[in-house]
Amino acid sequence: MQDLYNQIKNQYTVDLDNVESVLDLEKFKAKYNKLITGLMQALAKAKLTDKKLYGPRINQLKNSYEIAVTKKIGDLASLNAKNVEDLTIPHQPRHSGRLHPTTIVIRELNDFFRSQGFSIQEGPEIETPEYNFRRLNLPEGHPATDLQDTLYIKEPDLLMRTHTSSIQTQILSGYKPPMRVVVPGKVYRNETKSSTNSSFFYQYQGFVVDKGVNIQNLKEMLTRAHQFLFGEDVKLRFRYKYYPEVSPGMGVDMQCRFCLGKGCQVCKYRGWIETLGSGMTHYNCYKACGINPEVWTGYSFGLGLDRLVMNKFGIDDIRKLYSGELAYQ
Ligand SMILES: [Zn+2]
Repeated sequence: MQDLYNQIKNQYTVDLDNVESVLDLEKFKAKYNKLITGLMQALAKAKLTDKKLYGPRINQLKNSYEIAVTKKIGDLASLNAKNVEDLTIPHQPRHSGRLHPTTIVIRELNDFFRSQGFSIQEGPEIETPEYNFRRLNLPEGHPATDLQDTLYIKEPDLLMRTHTSSIQTQILSGYKPPMRVVVPGKVYRNETKSSTNSSFFYQYQGFVVDKGVNIQNLKEMLTRAHQFLFGEDVKLRFRYKYYPEVSPGMGVDMQCRFCLGKGCQVCKYRGWIETLGSGMTHYNCYKACGINPEVWTGYSFGLGLDRLVMNKFGIDDIRKLYSGELAYQ
């Protein structure tokens, strides 16, 4: 009995200190409740002198043990309370996804052109030379149709569209004028990657077919679109330029917003960035698409969206737009 008493007395506080969980405590109690019960049974059978000597000691040990166990239960409960997340506390907001800068600009342009009576269309990215070249007044053998510029899926029948003008010819061929349409979309070229060129990029195509449309209408529409995106103080430059699908053709440059016209890497030290090509839709193009050019006139324009996006958001390298750089995703 004396040995058992000493064993319990010396060991239980040490074991209790090592208890770190409710499961540990259950194991501890199973062990020591059994030992203490054994000790009580031994005391009941003990001689009277031993009973007198050990009775009070064993009672005291039992009381101390029970107090220590009760305290441990309280400690474990408060520890658990700290570890359990309080679901009523508002948590820190996490970074959620946001729109890609190109998507933002597409949506802004869509808003603008919708307000001007345009409808928004999409079309296939894999195209035939018929819609991508022929109906745009680009005859077979034209340098633009060359392998140097075009990515063919199956030469010469299927290619990745090189411009969103291919959707324009699809729509001109399939619908009757008058019409006002914009087409945002990805286009593909066989280009070497650089800070301003990529093998795929975004264009924003637009066209109007109506009676009595002239180039002044085109200029006004393009000016308003740039002002909508960049503010009233945007500086534009219009100049004659050759594009086979329009006549006359008009290139539009915007003053570089990185250097304000002084010249920098982004504008290739020109001070201006070409944002789009445009013009009055070519007579041959209407004819190829089944529209009578003697009755209908209209304009077309194709914006290079990436450079607009770069200028609007101060992004100095086109590769950052498509590289998975988290800052722009
Ligand atoms: Zn510049």
